[in-house]
Formats: sequence, C-alpha cells, structure tokens
Amino acid sequence: MSSKVAQYLNEHLVGEVTTNNHVRQQYSTDGSILTVVPDLVAYPRVTSDLRKITRFAWQLAEKGHVLSVTPRGGGTDTTGGAIGSGVVVDMSAHMNMLFELDIKQKLVRVQPGVTVHALNEALRLQNLYIPAFIGLKNDVTVGGAIANNMGNHLSSKYGAVGSWVSQLEIVLANGEILQTGKISKRDVARKRGLQTYEGEVYRTIGNLLNDKAETIAAIATDARDNAGYNIAYVEYKDGSLDLGPLFIGSQGTLGIISEVILKTLPVPDAPLVGALAFTSHDAVRDALDVLRQQSPSSLELIDGSLFTRAAESGKRYQFYADATEQGEVAAVVLVEFDGNTHAKKKAAKKIAKLFENEQVYVVLERDPGKIADLQMLGSLPQYVQVPEKSDFSTPAFLGGFYIPPERFEDFTKAVQILESKYDADLSLSGHGYESIYYTYPVLNMQKVGDRQKMLKLLTDWSTIVSAHGGHIVAENGEGRLKAPFAYKELDGDTKELYAAIRTLFDPLGTLNAGVKQDRDIKKLVAELRTDYVGNDNAWHAA
Ligand SMILES: Cc1cc2nc3c(=O)[nH]c(=O)nc-3n(C[C@H](O)[C@H](O)[C@H](O)COP(=O)(O)OP(=O)(O)OC[C@H]3O[C@@H](n4cnc5c(N)ncnc54)[C@H](O)[C@@H]3O)c2cc1C
Repeated sequence: MSSKVAQYLNEHLVGEVTTNNHVRQQYSTDGSILTVVPDLVAYPRVTSDLRKITRFAWQLAEKGHVLSVTPRGGGTDTTGGAIGSGVVVDMSAHMNMLFELDIKQKLVRVQPGVTVHALNEALRLQNLYIPAFIGLKNDVTVGGAIANNMGNHLSSKYGAVGSWVSQLEIVLANGEILQTGKISKRDVARKRGLQTYEGEVYRTIGNLLNDKAETIAAIATDARDNAGYNIAYVEYKDGSLDLGPLFIGSQGTLGIISEVILKTLPVPDAPLVGALAFTSHDAVRDALDVLRQQSPSSLELIDGSLFTRAAESGKRYQFYADATEQGEVAAVVLVEFDGNTHAKKKAAKKIAKLFENEQVYVVLERDPGKIADLQMLGSLPQYVQVPEKSDFSTPAFLGGFYIPPERFEDFTKAVQILESKYDADLSLSGHGYESIYYTYPVLNMQKVGDRQKMLKLLTDWSTIVSAHGGHIVAENGEGRLKAPFAYKELDGDTKELYAAIRTLFDPLGTLNAGVKQDRDIKKLVAELRTDYVGNDNAWHAA
C-alpha cells in the first residue's frame, strides 16, 4: 500500500516521496523521547505539492483509510509533535526560501522550512531582527517555531514567536488554501457566505465565538497556558477577525503553514547585562520579585547546580569562578536592559543600589565587546543537556512549565520532596520574568527502570504544577507527550471547545493524528524510545 501511495505521489508532485526503510527510521524520532515510524516521507518543493498530499490523504480518508500528514521542520520538537505514522512532510529540505524583505514596512516573506538561524543572518545584514528568534537552536525552522509558538528569554518584553507573525498561508486538510491576517467585519461576512471549506471555517468559528463566549473569555484571562488553540485572540472589538492565532501553537494539527510574513525590528544597541550570584535560594526568589519590577528585557534564572554539572565536564565560566571565590553560589540571575544609553545607565545604578547591602556578587557590563561573556551564561542550561556520563541524558520532558510568581516559593518546596522521592537533581532554571522554568533530570533512558521513573515523575510533576496554579505547557506545545497531562488541567467546556476546533479543521483525522489529542498513557508507553541517548548538539544555539 505505502509503496503504491509513494508511486502515485511521486508521479504527481514536483518534490519527492520515499518509503525507504533507512529514511523512515531517520524520521521516526524528533527531539522527544518518543518514536513512531512513518509509512512515507515526503519532500515538497512547492505549495501545490502540499495541496496534493493533503487532498490525497483527504480522499483516502473518505474511503476509510486514514493516512495522517505530519509537517516537520527541523525535527527538534520535544513533545513528539514532529513524528507520525502516515506521511511525514519535511518542510526544511526544499521549502526554505527567503522571498522578500520589505525594508520600509519591516516585513519579511519566507517559506516555513527556512531555519531561524538563516533568517537571523539575512536580517542582520539589513540591521533588522526578530527578538523571538534570538538564541534558538540552529536547526529550528520558522514553521516549527510558529507551530510551537516558541518563547525565549526576550518573550516577556517582546512576546513569543506568535507576536511576530503578520500573515500565514495555510494549506487546509482538503488541500484548499487559507490566508490569515486581519480582515474587516464586512469581509468576514462575505467569507461566511462562501460555499467552500474556507466559508465553513469562518461560519463555524463565528458560531463558536458566539456560543462559547464565556469559555473563550475565561481562556483569555489565563494567557500562560500554551496547550489547546489560541481562539481567544482571533476576534477584535470592532468585529474584525484574524484566524492566524489559531495556527500559532497548533503543531500542524489544523493545517500546514506554507508561507509566512513576519514582522521585524531594527537591531537595538548592545544591552546592559548584569549577572548576579546569590548565596541562597530564598535570596534569589526575593531578587526575582524585585528585578521584575524594574521591567528588564530579559531575566533568566540559572541554578548553581548546573554550573557544577558543567564543571564536571571541564566547562568553566569566569563569572561563576569569581563568584565562588566570594562564597557559595546557590543560583545566578542574568538580567538585561535594552533602550537608550540614559535608560541603561539608570538601570545599572538602580541594580547596584538594590543589592549594595546584600550578600550578592554583581557584575554589570555595558561594553558591547564584553557583554558576550556574561550572556554566555544564558546558554549554560542547554550545555548541561549533554552529560559526560555515556548512556545518560537529560530528556526534555519537564521543561517550559509556568508557576505563578507568588506560588514559586511553595512550589520549590514541593520540588524538594520530589527530588528526595526520585533521588534526582530537579534544580530549576528559566525565564524569571514570565516565571516559566525548565528542569533537567539526568536519566539513562535505555533502562526500563529509568523510563518508568520518567513517566512517574512526569505524572507527579504535572500534579504539583497544577496544585500551585501553574501550567505544564507554557512554552512550546503539548504534542503527544504532554497532552494527557495538560488536558487533565482543563475543564469540560474548554476541552469541548478545543475538540470542536480540531474537528472543524481536521474532520477526517488526517492532520498529525495523536498530537494535541487526549490519549491513554498506555499509548505513550508504547511510543517510548528504548534507545534514547539525548538531543543531538543540544547546545548549538543560534
Ligand atoms: C535544546 C532545545 C531547547 C529548546 N528550548 C526551547 C525554548 O526555550 N522555548 C521553547 O518554546 N521551545 C524550546 N524548545 C522546543 C522548541 O519549541 C522546538 O524544538 C521547535 O519549536 C521546533 O522547531 P522545528 O523547526 O524543529 O519543528 P519540528 O520539531 O519539526 O516541528 C514542531 C511542530 O511544528 C509542526 N510543524 C513544523 N513545520 C510546520 C509547518 N510548516 N506547518 C505546520 N506545522 C508545522 C510539527 O508538526 C510539530 O508539531 C527547545 C528544544 C530543544 C531541542
């Protein structure tokens, strides 16, 4: 069957399709601890290839054979979002062009398979940048970053990736094209009259916005939950609509992003960068509260234990070495302020004053030639994701969760209990301003015992996050791995609403089946990799 499908598609696509066993194996994993071997791998070259693949899958499903279509960018997804059983569509092979840069409007039009690294480099030549694309892994693509609504250290000030999307071209499940972007109330009415799939989309979304207004309003008050679909940001007060937010963070489950227009900004002057080493965790928690009030452009927390782990493999950070000469280091905070020279001078004075009587080792740097040394501290959490001990890894299953700042102290106590229960280092690092954190337990995922430990830990972790008013999915999506845990947090109305959106865009189950869907944990167990040895080159950040 698969080879017949491949033959048919090869005859009709400009790009290529293969059922080669070795290639299928290569595409059976992503950055997660899960594996699913696809039947086919496709390398589209043009949008019409995507239309033909989705239309073919649609027609097959109408006849009762479901061939799920999984779009894939760099394949770095940590939740199993970029793997699937049917056809994996590699957007990065050919659909990676930079089409156009409108310097006047500061807009750039690209194909989704271009890497954020390549785009960053091209924009830099024009003195432009996209804040949400700074510091990401080199092989992350624009499409993957949007489909996960990625966040970074600058998101508190500049927003996550979704904030930089102006328009998207989407290939819908039946192969029709939908253009997102803000359209007026009158144009919405016209769209609703269309006897096409697009017409049905506008009609049903309009009905959902009316009928589920209360549920949607409740979702809007809790911006920190990245699970589900962004229906709360679709409608404007004047009745105009932009369907774009629905696809931001949708992990390929509502359509394939085939073209993107992104907003950009002029590159700012070098920021003021401050590194602060604290002798106790209590002191660092208080400092995060104080520093948040200063509105920094970035506020990152790095637990001291990560420096110790890095030191085990010989990696030395001058700031940390100097700080430890003054005393014990429980945690380091990296803070940045951008803006004009006056604002940066003011911030430097304020920071120095705030901590002058505290037991804190502080280095502040404004010299563009010197700030890189301090900024490098920010990539330490990625570096320690590659432990020296062979067969051991730091599988990404506890990252990107949100804890309300006022509950952070209580939460850290609950974490200490889990550290004892699992005999694991669960120190927290991440975005202090937004209170989104990561932890990197070291496990040997080739051992059954450690795989069981991982699942139990994930279950307990989601329970303590939820009990402290947080969300397990605050950055990137729930994918396959976290969906069962993320949906436990949701009430019935919200789940129903998300299911209705999924059914509207994916009525025949052909879009990334198993992703962003509530599923039995047993299915998850069956998909666990037994050969997981870690994220390749995890520290290769752009
Ligand atoms: C070391 C490391 C650090 C990370 N740090 C962060 C972090 O700080 N913040 C954060 O938010 N995330 C982080 N992530 C996760 C990150 O969100 C994903 O790795 C990234 O978004 C995936 O991009 P990609 O191009 O590799 O997409 P893939 O992994 O290929 O795909 C990701 C998802 O997007 C979908 N998709 C891909 N292309 C398209 C398309 N054209 N149309 C529709 N859907 C598409 C896929 O189906 C999949 O569901 C990290 C991951 C790693 C490995």
